[in-house]
Amino acid sequence: MAVSYHRPTKAIIDLEAIRQNIKQEINWSKKEVFAVVKANGYGHGLVPVAIAAAESGASGFCVATLDEGIELRQHGLMQPILVLSVISVQDVLLAIKYDISITVTSLSWLEKAQHILSEESFSSLLKVHIKIDTGMGRIGFLTSSDVLEAISFIDESPNFNWEGIFTHYATADQIDSSYWKKQHGCFEKMLSKLPYLPTYVHDSNSATSLWHHSQGNMVRLGIAMYGLNPSGRAMEEVYPLKPALSLESELIQVKYLTQGAGIGYGKTYETTENQWIGTVPIGYADGYSRKLQGFYVLIEGKRCEIVGRICMDQLMVRLPHEFPEGSKVTLIGRNGDEQITLQDIADQLETIHYEVACLLSPRIPREYK
Ligand SMILES: *Cc1c(COP(=O)(O)O)cnc(C)c1O
Repeated sequence: MAVSYHRPTKAIIDLEAIRQNIKQEINWSKKEVFAVVKANGYGHGLVPVAIAAAESGASGFCVATLDEGIELRQHGLMQPILVLSVISVQDVLLAIKYDISITVTSLSWLEKAQHILSEESFSSLLKVHIKIDTGMGRIGFLTSSDVLEAISFIDESPNFNWEGIFTHYATADQIDSSYWKKQHGCFEKMLSKLPYLPTYVHDSNSATSLWHHSQGNMVRLGIAMYGLNPSGRAMEEVYPLKPALSLESELIQVKYLTQGAGIGYGKTYETTENQWIGTVPIGYADGYSRKLQGFYVLIEGKRCEIVGRICMDQLMVRLPHEFPEGSKVTLIGRNGDEQITLQDIADQLETIHYEVACLLSPRIPREYK
């Protein structure tokens, strides 16, 4: 992917906002914070976000894939790294090589891993976190007898280091906490049956840490670190979160069209009078969805409607009056007294801000301040 630096479209990432959000979380939770930097740091950039997180007190990282963890190691980050998903058993040697902790969800996986590891003469152990499925229905052990069996297997094996145990809650970001309590009760019960506890016991994503009293000594902090309210608009932030991402571009052409001029593919918009129309170099290939037709951008503090279909690489906006070519266009962030948040875009797309941030394509350069 050619990152397109020679185009005025860029995502600006405020690393100071990320640092502040993490510091507030450490003060709030009084737990260790592992920064969740999966999916290119929720679109904010894997390595720069991880470095900022470490500078502000995060003591480890969570990723979704082994490759994300390896990239952190290759950039010199030495903190503990946990892969939250299941890795292919044939990749255990890589996990050991890069000292990356992995998630275990079945005894059969451990047995297969053991088989591979026993053929090598490794001095280091594979660090594992046991995942409990308390009601998310995604990955994890379902019964305490299976967990106890896995722990005995690990204890008897020369190849594993049991480093952590964790679970994940499905409804921590919702006002109704009944299902959260059910899952939490299930995790507590599981913990009470263990012969001993590993170094890390963790059941908190951002929402659980903000709005629930829970177990454990570590928080897997994702969305709140990026300054976004995990619940969207449903629940109040317990400390002020500062959004880190803005998305900006410039008008590359400004033209005056007479009434009845067609705009974009399918000619879905026709100028209703003589109008100023501007073109912005961003499109759906950048992760700026076609469904945002009819939404708006900000120029000189004014809302300008997106008219006509959004193209792959460009979109058109209706201007209230002539603006100079090169005028700054804000697609996410503050401009004058106006602001467009990731949540505003999520509302328009009937999705969540997590998805909007992750969809911003690697073609858009990330600029750090
Ligand atoms: C992504 C993820 C997190 C982080 O969740 P946020 O809501 O972004 O804080 C935590 N734990 C697991 C298992 C995850 O997959």
